[in-house]
Amino acid sequence: MTKKKILVVEDNEDNKRILLYRLRKIGDFDIVATSNGLEALEAVQADPPDLIFMDLKMPVMDGWEATRRIRELESGREIPIVALTAQAMAGDEQRALANGCSDYLSKPVVDPALVREKVEKFLGPQLPPVGA
Ligand SMILES: [Mg+2]
Repeated sequence: MTKKKILVVEDNEDNKRILLYRLRKIGDFDIVATSNGLEALEAVQADPPDLIFMDLKMPVMDGWEATRRIRELESGREIPIVALTAQAMAGDEQRALANGCSDYLSKPVVDPALVREKVEKFLGPQLPPVGA
């Protein structure tokens, strides 16, 4: 079976590291990590993932712009995008849903069950990889 591909877009290294750690415990995914919206857009154009976790506030190109541009792509229209929202930024959850995101996940991503819930919502039930 082909591995599901997940694109993680997050400029904060600590937040990125914990999300990648959580994802690797959930399933055997092909994970690509990028640090800004432009890199994410290029990654989607090169090889569209099955699921995207998208930070909103990033240098070079933020998550709002990246989401808008991914949605303009033929290959990016249907990809589930889960916005990574900061608790301090009230209203970002609803704004994300209104601007092309499929769902949201509050940072810091501390609850493994919540990450699993988002992954399985879009990719279906997952078996943890051996040794995870
Ligand atoms: Mg950020």
